[in-house]
Amino acid sequence: MSLPRFYVSPMPPGGVVNLSPEDARHAQSVLRLKVGDKVQLFDGRGFEANGQIAALGRSAVQIEIARIEPVSRELRNKLELVMALPKGDRQKQLIDVLVQLGVDQLTPLECERSVAQPTDNAIERLQRSVIETCKQCGRNQLMKVNQPVSLSQLTAISDLDASLAHCDQPIKLYAHPYGACSPLIKQLTSLPKGFVHGRVVVGPEGGLTDLECDRLSQSGWTQVELGKRILRIETAAIMIAAAWATLDAELSII
Ligand code: SAM
Repeated sequence: MSLPRFYVSPMPPGGVVNLSPEDARHAQSVLRLKVGDKVQLFDGRGFEANGQIAALGRSAVQIEIARIEPVSRELRNKLELVMALPKGDRQKQLIDVLVQLGVDQLTPLECERSVAQPTDNAIERLQRSVIETCKQCGRNQLMKVNQPVSLSQLTAISDLDASLAHCDQPIKLYAHPYGACSPLIKQLTSLPKGFVHGRVVVGPEGGLTDLECDRLSQSGWTQVELGKRILRIETAAIMIAAAWATLDAELSII
């Protein structure tokens, strides 16, 4: 059975560390952990540590760190979803699935027809959800939730920007159901083997406008379709992430 996992950042190199007050409460009142119980810690930057409960206080739990090491459960090929956010609770469900599927980064996109506003509070909530899912799925690297970008900022970003600089085969796709476009799977399976960094755009409930599609196409983004039905934002994002993760892990096509 997997050990209870807690997020500790920064992770000290050894010794004893306190859990956050929320985790300490959860460890005691929900998980009913006791002194000596084994736990796992992760720092969100790729390191994992085994430890055991050294002391329990009213709202404090101390963990003695036994061994700390880098453990990667990341995809080899990094996927960034640049997407309009769905509304309300659907955001949390979206994050939960994307983290499990190994998406590297999520960048909220502000489009002409966007409905949900990616406010600072919303971004913070999403970041907290990332940590919760990483506890559950064993991921040691947090999925990065970036500051929102507008479509004009996105189309102005050069491939030589920081996140893509290390990669020789960046691919840029946008999902749009109309017009002549090729299926996502066809695009992904025609990529040359080797390390790939992909950015994929998903539009808002009202869809991308013709002008936005033109801008994307003119700045090197390739249109893809996800089948004959119109998917909700989060279904489209999950389909892209699942296809990417499948090709990355199981088939080694990308
Ligand atoms: N009423 C909108 C329209 O007509 O464009 C539908 C938008 S859909 C709910 C939200 C986003 O999901 C779209 O902007 C697109 O990025 C993506 N999407 C949904 N279904 C798709 C499909 N079959 N092919 C490609 N993209 C799709």
